[in-house]
Amino acid sequence: MTDSQATPEPVTGPGQPGPVPPGASGPRTVDTANQALHDGVNRCPKCGSTEIQLRVSAGKLVCLFCRYEWSEAKIEPVVAGESALQDLTGTVVASGATDISPEVSGVITLKCPGCGSEVVVNTAEAMSSRCHWCRHILTINEQVPNGAVPDAVLPFGITRDQALEHIRAFAGARRLFAHRTFRRDFAPENVVGVYLPYMVVDGNASADVQGFGEVETRRYTRKNGDQEETYYDADVYQVGRHVDFTVDDLTIESSAERANMNAFVNTNNVINTILPFDTKNAVRWNANYLVGFTSERRDQDVGQVEPVLEDQLLSIARSQVEGSVSRYNRGVRWEAEHLVVHGTRWVSMYLPVWLYSYYYEENGHAMVHYIAVNGRTGETMGSVPVSQGRLILAALVAGTVLEGVALWLLAVMS
Ligand SMILES: [Zn+2]
Ligand SMILES: [Zn+2]
Repeated sequence: MTDSQATPEPVTGPGQPGPVPPGASGPRTVDTANQALHDGVNRCPKCGSTEIQLRVSAGKLVCLFCRYEWSEAKIEPVVAGESALQDLTGTVVASGATDISPEVSGVITLKCPGCGSEVVVNTAEAMSSRCHWCRHILTINEQVPNGAVPDAVLPFGITRDQALEHIRAFAGARRLFAHRTFRRDFAPENVVGVYLPYMVVDGNASADVQGFGEVETRRYTRKNGDQEETYYDADVYQVGRHVDFTVDDLTIESSAERANMNAFVNTNNVINTILPFDTKNAVRWNANYLVGFTSERRDQDVGQVEPVLEDQLLSIARSQVEGSVSRYNRGVRWEAEHLVVHGTRWVSMYLPVWLYSYYYEENGHAMVHYIAVNGRTGETMGSVPVSQGRLILAALVAGTVLEGVALWLLAVMS
C-alpha cells in the first residue's frame, strides 16, 4: 500500500524518523522509549519513593509518600516532530507499535533495586508488582515486543464516582424495560477501569473515484390506464474526482481477541459508540498511570490493521468529494475508486474506559451486556437485557395513560 515516492524525508534528530536509506523499503521507527524510566525503578522525582499512582481528578501522577504531583510529556511532538502531515511519506512506526514477536513472553522478571531479589510481573494481568521482601513497587517500562507496553497512554480523566453516576443514569433511563434479574443484580460498584489498546494513525493519501452522475432535465407524467406514472429525462455524465487529503489521529482497535469471542462482540460495538477520545493529550508511557486499573494487551500489528485504515481512508475520500458533485441532482454512482497512501504514522496507545459488565443467560444462550463510559469525556453507551414482557407491559401502560388523558380531556371539554 505504500507509495513509490522515493524522496527521503530530510529529517534527523531526537524523536525524528531517520532518512530513508536509498533503495530501502519497510517502516522507519521512531524511538518513544521513556528514557527517564529505568526498568523496574520508577521513582518519584522528588523523594524517590515507588508508591506512585494516577490522581484522576488532577490528571497527574501523585507520589503517595510526599504528595508531589507531575505528568509525563505529551507523545505527539515526540512522534510527529516538525514535519507537516502533507509531507508524510513511507511508513513510520513508533517503537511501541512495532511488530509483536511471538517468542517474547508476557511474563517478565525484574531485579528489585531495593534488595536484589527477582520479581516476576505477568503483563497479561498487571504492569507492576510489589517486591514482597522490601515492598518496592517494580514497573514494566521497557518496550518489550509483546504488545504490553505502548508508546503512550491517555490517562483516566473521569473518576470512578463520576463513572458510577453515568452508569446509574444510563441504566435508570432503561429500567422500565430491563429484565428483572438485571435490575435485581445491578451493582455498578463492580465497574472496572480498563485501558484498551488502540493504534492512533496519521495519514497522507490521495484518492481517485470514477462513476456516473445524472442531472434531471425534464419530469412529466403519462397515463397508463387509470394510473398516472412519473417519468424523467436526465443527462448522464461520466464523473471523475481526485482528492488529496490528510488524516490526523484516527483510532483503530488493536486487539482482535475480543472480536473473536462471541460473547464480547458486543463490547466492540459499544466502545465504538463512545469514541472519540482526545488523543492529542496522550502522554509518554509510565506504568504508574495503570496502577489500580487493568489493561488489555495489543495483539495486532500495523500490517494486520492496515486494511481497516484503508477502508476508513476511502470513506473519508468519498465524503470529501461529496460537496463537489452536488450539481448532479439525481446523484452519482461511483463505480471505481483507487486509493494511494503516500505516508502513514502509527502510534500504539492505551485509551481509558470504565466498564460495567453483566453476565446474562437466556434460553441457554450466554450474553455479556456492557455499559461503557469514555474515561475522558463521560460519554456512556451500553446494552441492558430487555424483558419482552415488560416491553409489552410498558407499551400497554403508555396506551392506557394516553387513553386516560383523552377521556379526561373529553370530560373537561363537555
Ligand atoms: Zn515523593
Ligand atoms: Zn525488593
